[in-house]
Amino acid sequence: DYQKHIRNFSIVAHIDHGKSTIADRILELTDTVSERQLKNQMLDDMPLERQRGITIKMNSVEIKYHAQNGEDYIFHLIDTPGHVDFSYEVSRSLAACEGALLVVDASQGVQAQTLANTYLAIDDDLEILPVINKIDLPSANPEQAKEEITEMLGLDASNAAEVSGKTGQGIGDLLERIVQDIPAPDGDLEASLKALIFDSKYDDYRGVVLSIRVEDGMVKPGDHIKIMNTGKEYEVTEVGVSSPHPVKKDILIAGDVGYLTANIKSVRETGVGDTITSSKNATAEPLPGYRQIPPMVYSGMYPVDNSKYDDLKEALQKLQLNDAALEFEPETSTALGFGFRCGFLGLLHMDVVQERLEQEFNLDLIMTAPSVDYHAIMNDGSTKVIDNPSDLPSAGEYSEVQEPYVKAEVMVPNDFVGPVMELCQRKRGEFVTMDYLDKYRVNVIYNMPLAEIIYDFFDDLKSSTKGYASLDYEITGYRATDLVKIDILLNKQVIDALSFIAHRDESQNRARQMTSMLKKLIPRQNFEVDIQGAIGAKIISRATIKPYRKDVTWKIHTGDPDRRAKLLEKQKRGKKRMKAVGQVEVPQDAFMAVLRMN
Ligand code: GDP
Ligand code: MG
Repeated sequence: DYQKHIRNFSIVAHIDHGKSTIADRILELTDTVSERQLKNQMLDDMPLERQRGITIKMNSVEIKYHAQNGEDYIFHLIDTPGHVDFSYEVSRSLAACEGALLVVDASQGVQAQTLANTYLAIDDDLEILPVINKIDLPSANPEQAKEEITEMLGLDASNAAEVSGKTGQGIGDLLERIVQDIPAPDGDLEASLKALIFDSKYDDYRGVVLSIRVEDGMVKPGDHIKIMNTGKEYEVTEVGVSSPHPVKKDILIAGDVGYLTANIKSVRETGVGDTITSSKNATAEPLPGYRQIPPMVYSGMYPVDNSKYDDLKEALQKLQLNDAALEFEPETSTALGFGFRCGFLGLLHMDVVQERLEQEFNLDLIMTAPSVDYHAIMNDGSTKVIDNPSDLPSAGEYSEVQEPYVKAEVMVPNDFVGPVMELCQRKRGEFVTMDYLDKYRVNVIYNMPLAEIIYDFFDDLKSSTKGYASLDYEITGYRATDLVKIDILLNKQVIDALSFIAHRDESQNRARQMTSMLKKLIPRQNFEVDIQGAIGAKIISRATIKPYRKDVTWKIHTGDPDRRAKLLEKQKRGKKRMKAVGQVEVPQDAFMAVLRMN
């Protein structure tokens, strides 16, 4: 009977349509957190998420709800991120649910990520409950939003809930709809244990904490469990739920969403998507698990202080447990020393990993310019995967270089079709087709090199469409294009961490931009610094940084003390992110200069 009163659901939406705000209102209305505790966006508990106002990691929370029929229900709400970089997190959280609230902004309507996330939910056979949010806005058009849901997603939205996460209007009715429309879980209590690991994190005191959804059977402290994919066995030390702070429980049963600890010490012993069963009475078939999403972007990561290599390694291992899409392997650079080649889902993911390592693990890092992975077809016919531009062999050793291509879909209002096409063309895009979604909106489709998308494409797209465009892309395959490697030399020494790959037509222009940018970014040293761009032995661009003559603080000796303190502070902070490359002090910015080229 307890099981009939459980409702497990996620909230899916396009970014900024109001998932986190609605989640906050639900927590507030059900007294899950007291008003005193309620900070805005309760579920976004990572400091980075608060700073940026985006959801990065999903979070689950148990909510007790006393319904109008007089009965008490338990909701497990799992928040999901909305950015295209993080759709792997969305699919993970959906596997733990029976239903999903599909939140659509009443003034924006259905957007690219609404579609993508809803398809994931439909794939998982979830009951989808359309919710029109922001009905308080003067520009809200709930009827139009409903029509779009019906037309574009094929869902009946005539009865969609209409709410305002801001004012709380309609949230009470929404809670009733969750009880009525989302099915209760139907796992078998008598069967042997079968639970899905949908997230995990490392805790200094408790070791590895697994977020689980129990599908069949039950689990309690003292039980002996087995992780099916590794065969390893453990004794359960604690089970509980997140409320949203951890609350211990005696037992978790089929249908429950909660956490489990079992003295799992090493981060390598479990994987997200694995199935837990009981040691004695193991279930025959594991749960389906997850699609592993391959990284799209690679970058080198080096500690500013070389002695922190082991700390960085440990931090990456811990973070990987919490972020299954992060990949890394050791790499050495003649310029930067020992570090790691890391794979990310996109630039935002890369940013987030860097900031988390710095904030949560207290590391100072130098990251090298992001790159996609290229395929070099070698003379003997073999394929060499190049995830670091400096690894591209010399010109005579391969017959061609291939780069990943994507199908990019840009959804945009009519008026901006021109600027969008112009931008895609400039980024080596190949027009495929254009679909009118309704009277106002168009889906513009291009084939484009992934390398052009990962840099500043999204920002350019936003600025050329006043923020109205949304982007979705998927890798379609590899294509041979005329690519060359450009090396950067500082005082005649090739700096491997600054090498990059560009299309031959652009190579001269990019080499020039790169040397002149480096000239601005690298501070004066007490000797002259010669910067050169080269393809093989051929120098194609150059610049010179003159040595400084005077003490840098000379100018500020007489200035007002406040300003002087600030300047010194700024210098100190800047210094932390400098790396001695041979003789030359190079700042972090210089390694990212390639991102700023047009
Ligand atoms: P998420 O990215 O889907 O989690 O969206 P958020 O919950 O972070 O909301 C995005 C922005 O929309 C924030 O600035 C919210 O304050 C605002 N917002 C959310 N719900 C409403 C609403 O019902 N009305 C109005 N006017 N603004 C809202
Ligand atoms: Mg959010």
